[in-house]
Amino acid sequence: MENMGKPLQRVVIVGGGAAGWMSAAALSAVLKPPYEIRLVESEEIGIIGVGEATIPPIRMFNGLARIDEAGFLKATQGTFKLGIEFVNWGRVGERYFHGFGDVGKEAMWPVDFSQYWLRMRALGRALPLDAYAISNTAAKSNKFMLPQPNMQNSPMAALGYAYHFDAGLYARHLRAVSEARGVRRTEGKVVRVLLNEEPGPRLGHVRAVQMQSGELVEGDLFLDCSGFASLLIEKTLDTGYEDWSHWLPCDRAWAVPSERTNPLVPYTRATAHKAGWQWRIPLQHRVGNGHVYSSAHMSDDEAAAILLKNLDAPALAEPRLVKFRTGMRKQAWSRNVVAIGMSAGFVEPLESTALHLIQMGVAKLIEAFPHSGFDPVEIEEYNRASRVRYEYVRDFIVLHYHLNQRDDTEFWRACAAMSVPEALRYRMKLYAASGRLADVHADLFREPSWLEVMEGQNLRPRGWLALADLQSVEDTARYMRGISDTIATCVAAMPAHEEFVRQYCPAAQA
Ligand SMILES: Cc1cc2nc3c(=O)[nH]c(=O)nc-3n(C[C@H](O)[C@H](O)[C@H](O)COP(=O)(O)OP(=O)(O)OC[C@H]3O[C@@H](n4cnc5c(N)ncnc54)[C@H](O)[C@@H]3O)c2cc1C
Repeated sequence: MENMGKPLQRVVIVGGGAAGWMSAAALSAVLKPPYEIRLVESEEIGIIGVGEATIPPIRMFNGLARIDEAGFLKATQGTFKLGIEFVNWGRVGERYFHGFGDVGKEAMWPVDFSQYWLRMRALGRALPLDAYAISNTAAKSNKFMLPQPNMQNSPMAALGYAYHFDAGLYARHLRAVSEARGVRRTEGKVVRVLLNEEPGPRLGHVRAVQMQSGELVEGDLFLDCSGFASLLIEKTLDTGYEDWSHWLPCDRAWAVPSERTNPLVPYTRATAHKAGWQWRIPLQHRVGNGHVYSSAHMSDDEAAAILLKNLDAPALAEPRLVKFRTGMRKQAWSRNVVAIGMSAGFVEPLESTALHLIQMGVAKLIEAFPHSGFDPVEIEEYNRASRVRYEYVRDFIVLHYHLNQRDDTEFWRACAAMSVPEALRYRMKLYAASGRLADVHADLFREPSWLEVMEGQNLRPRGWLALADLQSVEDTARYMRGISDTIATCVAAMPAHEEFVRQYCPAAQA
């Protein structure tokens, strides 16, 4: 470990979007004085403000950063999310649901539920996958309630859920939480980044950022949360970017809010169009919408027209164009700069993963926090783990594009024909052979997610494992009926999502 002479106590966060304020909230929950946390941001530059759908691990972030669930949902016009409905992805006119949580339940028998389901489907004795997944069944009925951990043998014990919220209000809420814990915010533009020129272990480290006002904000550790500007990690340290647009060709999005519609559904919808897809995110006061598309296959005007034509209710503003380049920074942590958020990389929002990557970025930083110096092996491990996560997310998103049978546009034909990353090719090959699901990454989409998307987009295995034949058909049918009946009974007893939100986390009027 490099001996820095004095402990590292001054953390400077550059940027106040979701990445900056999530980092500030989490760090301020664990670093107490003499640590100092400062955040600089520019209202004039503003934030991207479109990250509005999440995945279940965000509840762990709330635990880490000590964010009260009902309080934050009230403050952000939040709603609950049980998964994503995909429309037109396999073929035009088809739909499927990728829900959170389990499909089936762990049997005392030797193989996964999915193996029994494959066998029984072949015999014409299985219901669709959704019937065996409580999140999916609840979503389709617009029902929601919190999991009931005490009901140990019930599917209610482990109901998987996440949130939708207003991105601007989210950053504002986290700011209030962080400032209450002592984080100091400085308003203004960073115009220069100063490097340390003194020989020694800190040579070439960022020493300070200079604000337009002339003020120098000095620090020991800098978090680059400046979004696509990547002020420190790229513009200053020149770390390099790995481009993934050959796998994920969408590079633009129009975003627009529309009026709230009823009922208040507890899921995101992702509808594929000619050269991309449209999101629909229901909030308490409005609906968030956007059309993600490939500019090589569609003009901006056509993409905006498609978005507006496919809204469920009148738009509340003019559409806003966002441009992006899919890929990741070659090193998220370089010298004394850690990039978190879009400065670290960007994988498009099809599975709502960006806020999760922020959460993991800051959680891993806390784990390896350089209290008394920068240890190269900790930095190496941070960068390795970050790459594993980004690639895992990338592969899961590529699956949605690649596994399509659409023949209506050049965009979809090219996606179906492209060669995919090796790990993804292997996962698809294994599932196609025997319905087996390759080992998954611990903190992200697990086996049921891969199953639902591969099945939803029509990858059909040639067979199943012989172990699934050990039980008699009648026993297996009884076991599966037990699961689907219990789920149906639980969902029937749940309140409507809208009713639950009204009771638990009603927002003040918009
Ligand atoms: C179309 C689209 C849809 C998305 N949907 C989702 C989703 O559903 N779910 C999800 O999890 N994620 C989603 N994301 C990603 C998500 O929006 C971002 O990951 C998240 O908002 C974090 O952004 P950020 O904080 O890194 O950057 P930003 O929000 O851009 O913040 C950058 C900050 O840096 C500051 N800054 C920049 N330059 C300077 C300077 N010179 N001086 C001072 N301050 C400066 C800015 O003022 C701002 O405060 C989406 C992204 C896009 C593009």
